Amino acid sequence: MESNEKQRKLDLRYLRMAGIWAENSYCQRRQVGALVVKEGMIISDGYNGTPSGFENVCEDDNNVTKPYVLHAEANAITKLARSSNNSDGATIYITASPCIECAKLIIQAGIRRVVYGEKYRLTDGIDLLERAGIETTYLNPNE
Ligand SMILES: [Zn+2]
Repeated sequence: MESNEKQRKLDLRYLRMAGIWAENSYCQRRQVGALVVKEGMIISDGYNGTPSGFENVCEDDNNVTKPYVLHAEANAITKLARSSNNSDGATIYITASPCIECAKLIIQAGIRRVVYGEKYRLTDGIDLLERAGIETTYLNPNE
């Protein structure tokens, strides 16, 4: 019981940190942050935005998100592809529930646990993660 409560408090802190990290996003419509934690260390981070070398603008003239904007989870996972670390067995903290595209990446990246802070109307991402046997936890970061 006690260790569960300890884990929950830790989860909440990481989730709040992901929320602070989301503030880096220059996207106007929505700001999302993600942290990948393995063995007590933050090994990667991400927020939604355009790929490296592109203009720091997420929306087109009609305020529609550009198709090449990467989600926070995708940025955090692909950042690991360029590092000497890896996400096998890691936990990812995301300020919002992952979409199905990011859920696929999370599964293939070997991430074992997903903690997210905002429910989305579509649950197909979470459903896919659960089908893959990945533990998903929703937490209200403001509690
Ligand atoms: Zn996504």
